[in-house]
Amino acid sequence: MRHYDYIISGGGCAGLSLAYRLNQTVLRDKSVLIVDAEEKVLNDRTWCFWTAETPPFAEIVYRQWSQIEFVDPKFQQTAKLSDLKYHMIRGIDFYEHTRESLSKNPNIHWLQGKIEDIRDFSDGAAVTVNGVEYSARWVFNSIYLPALFQADQRRSYYLLQHFKGWEIEADRDVFDTSTVRMMDFRTEQDGDVKFFYILPFSSRKALVEYTIFSPQLLPEEEYDLHLKDYISRQLNIENYRIHSVEQNAIPMTNQSFPRAPGKHIINIGIAGGRCKPSTGYAFLQIQRDVKNIVETLLQEAHPFAPIRRAPRFHFYDTLLLHIMAGQHYSIRKIFRWLFRHNPLSRVLAFLDERTSLFQEILIFSRLPWLPFLRAVYQTRLPRRSGRTSARTWQGEAPYAHPRETVER
Ligand SMILES: Cc1cc2nc3c(=O)[nH]c(=O)nc-3n(C[C@H](O)[C@H](O)[C@H](O)COP(=O)(O)OP(=O)(O)OC[C@H]3O[C@@H](n4cnc5c(N)ncnc54)[C@H](O)[C@@H]3O)c2cc1C
Repeated sequence: MRHYDYIISGGGCAGLSLAYRLNQTVLRDKSVLIVDAEEKVLNDRTWCFWTAETPPFAEIVYRQWSQIEFVDPKFQQTAKLSDLKYHMIRGIDFYEHTRESLSKNPNIHWLQGKIEDIRDFSDGAAVTVNGVEYSARWVFNSIYLPALFQADQRRSYYLLQHFKGWEIEADRDVFDTSTVRMMDFRTEQDGDVKFFYILPFSSRKALVEYTIFSPQLLPEEEYDLHLKDYISRQLNIENYRIHSVEQNAIPMTNQSFPRAPGKHIINIGIAGGRCKPSTGYAFLQIQRDVKNIVETLLQEAHPFAPIRRAPRFHFYDTLLLHIMAGQHYSIRKIFRWLFRHNPLSRVLAFLDERTSLFQEILIFSRLPWLPFLRAVYQTRLPRRSGRTSARTWQGEAPYAHPRETVER
């Protein structure tokens, strides 16, 4: 069996970010195997995030914006980000940039293939690809298998953030290139949370995305119908070309993800619970997490970095998920109050979990109280982390062996 110091299972955002960080330290001398089922040559997603600092991967930031807009049928607000900037990185630029940099290091090996199993043993762990096992001291897994993540429905909430976006080019100048339309709620809610999101790339080109927070995906044609309708009725664009499509779904749950499914296996990225449950933003959390992991490897010689998330943010996410899942109260109204009665910098700091308790009290004091009081009373708080199911994954059997969840 071929042995490495580290195996990175899944070379997407978290896997490549981790490899990139390792490669910037003395750990560049360790042997690393990066396994991914895909070649990663497509622009399969765009990552946006806000920060006042130099952004991670600053050299490949595709666009940045200085204003954010919130729109709903009763309110419209455009606010300056002051010292913050809203950044966007294209998936394809990230894959190319990290591969180019990592390929210079002969200790880093690449394998394209589907991981069929990950197995922990006494002094390491192994992955199986096309029937062949590869072992390592540590396996960093970023493969998230929704079919194997069992949310405890009685104690937690599990919704999907699903979306479809078209990168369009209009036949006239129509977009304001300084402003991201973060949420446009001018669409029927039907008991779910539905809004449009616009990233303008030029006065004629933009990514226009229809986003829904709900338990189920929509029939395919519904995404298209809503996009068409919004572009024509709200943006007043009749003639445009669709250059590309972005579509996917992200889990939104307050149940924690198993962090260490084996003594030598650590879950990272979405699989490691690095996605903010109430918003679906994960990119910055992933960057902070891999930084922590590398520091822990350097200092402690193991990767199990402490999770420093303040429990109160978990509680706020749970309240919001309760309100979204219960469909008793309009989330559109809560977001309207949030943006209307708070400075934008405070709202964004809150969504990025960087507010103080005092600032959070200010925020909550300016929101409609009733749905939150009801949520505090009725809410489901998970007692333990989500388990990896013993069931094999239909026809494709990653994690064929059930493993105990190791909490560190
Ligand atoms: C379309 C889209 C847009 C997003 N936009 C934002 C955003 O704007 N801001 C933000 O903060 N977050 C965003 N997210 C959420 C999050 O940042 C991304 O999902 C991010 O890519 C998660 O990183 P990851 O490493 O966990 O997963 P991924 O990047 O998906 O990496 C997992 C890798 O595992 C590979 N893989 C899967 N199964 C196997 C297998 N069996 N064997 C081998 N390899 C396998 C996949 O090919 C993939 O490369 C977005 C997500 C999506 C899907």
